[in-house]
Amino acid sequence: MAETKETTVMGKLVSLAKRRGFVYQSSEIYGGTGSVWDYGPLGVELKRNLRERWWRAMVHQRDDIEGLDAAILMHPRVWEASGHVAGFTDPLVECRNCHRRFRADAPELAGGQCPVCGSRDSFTEPRMFNLMFRTFMGPVEDEAATVYLRPETAQGIYVNFLNVFNASRQKIPFGIAQIGKAFRNEITPGNFIFRTREFEQAEMQYFVEPGTDEQWLEYWKDQRMTWVRDLGIRAENLRFHEHTQEELAHYAKRAYDIQYRFEFGWQEFEGIHNRTDFDLSRHQEYSGKKLEYFDQASQRRYVPYIIETSAGIDRTLLVVLADAYHEEDVEGETRVVLRLNPALAPIKAAVFPLVRKDGMPEIAEKIHATLRAAALPSFYDDGGSIGRRYRRQDEAGTPWCVTVDGQSTQDGTVTIRDRDSLSQIRVPAERIVAWVTEQATKPYAPLPAIP
Ligand code: ATP
Repeated sequence: MAETKETTVMGKLVSLAKRRGFVYQSSEIYGGTGSVWDYGPLGVELKRNLRERWWRAMVHQRDDIEGLDAAILMHPRVWEASGHVAGFTDPLVECRNCHRRFRADAPELAGGQCPVCGSRDSFTEPRMFNLMFRTFMGPVEDEAATVYLRPETAQGIYVNFLNVFNASRQKIPFGIAQIGKAFRNEITPGNFIFRTREFEQAEMQYFVEPGTDEQWLEYWKDQRMTWVRDLGIRAENLRFHEHTQEELAHYAKRAYDIQYRFEFGWQEFEGIHNRTDFDLSRHQEYSGKKLEYFDQASQRRYVPYIIETSAGIDRTLLVVLADAYHEEDVEGETRVVLRLNPALAPIKAAVFPLVRKDGMPEIAEKIHATLRAAALPSFYDDGGSIGRRYRRQDEAGTPWCVTVDGQSTQDGTVTIRDRDSLSQIRVPAERIVAWVTEQATKPYAPLPAIP
């Protein structure tokens, strides 16, 4: 992963993520596992906040979408019906010199030179490689016992379409949403948590009447871009990319990616796809079970079309981190700050007694306890200078630091320092919970990038 030198934002993010406990390499003490990552104390909170925000917008705040949590292991026929056994393959080439493998279409191979060892014309002919992880169910390891780790969560939704429909009494159009792990044996993983072999997806499949699919695709395209913008991602770093005929997946009639401008180029982190009736028709064919919908009003029976919104939680988290990462000069020193939307920030407020005496710790501890009791994650820090304590919280993305000083013991007010503007205000200590709650739930407008 040549890009992750400390001179690049990605390199700096990797080291900040480790230093502050956002993301670690999996099994690091054994030298790490290829492109699998673990989330530390701050990372797990950020990820939960992202997931919960998605769930709230896609399930809780809507009448027309139901939630689901399907298992990772599914009947092997699912993957025949979905086309993954036959088609979920990438052309793979190997360098005869260093034996590293690459996707044949990787841009760095364009010159015919191996990007690892530099050999020229050393690549084998492309060979198709299935990206699904295979394992065995039960004690006998044979073909009949082969199962796959799901490469996408969507199929769990399709096979449960009738179950959810019958239990929820929804009418078309309606959707089913789920968040869960997916696995792909990627040939060229990399760029930190951008492309990994184990990752999480947040997918929603919206079942619509054929003929209304184009209009629903446009609707979901807008909804999803609005959601992404509301995370606090700067508009100039976001765009849609419509799939060309060559890019369209076998199941798709039309598809858009939401792309982010990473320093390694514009890259997809969410897809909005018109999957037509491909999935339900195939499952009907392979399972022998009818997956049709009967529309009472029109007395029409049909296999619904599906509009899918498919986001990677880890990849979206990387977008959030990359967009929030800033270095700026403050009084001659470099300040590293994660300008996270407060609603996503792992710690909402840090509480500092200015000194460890004169009644300040008692007031600070009480504020810290009150914040926690109100389910606002708070961090208590009484170590080192205030400047150092601010810097630690800036790197963690904590939006507000509350300091208890001499005046607090006199008049019961404390200072709140704002991470982004660096401004300070005095607020009565008993107002802190209300103040933080109000600020953390406001829409967040990101500051423009520092040139
Ligand atoms: P790519 O072209 O980058 O391989 P894809 O087009 O195969 O992605 P989809 O199958 O549409 O991706 O998956 C939907 C989302 O799931 C992606 O936008 C991404 O956020 C996430 N995703 C897919 N593969 C990975 C991976 N290997 N690591 C992390 N996230 C992934």
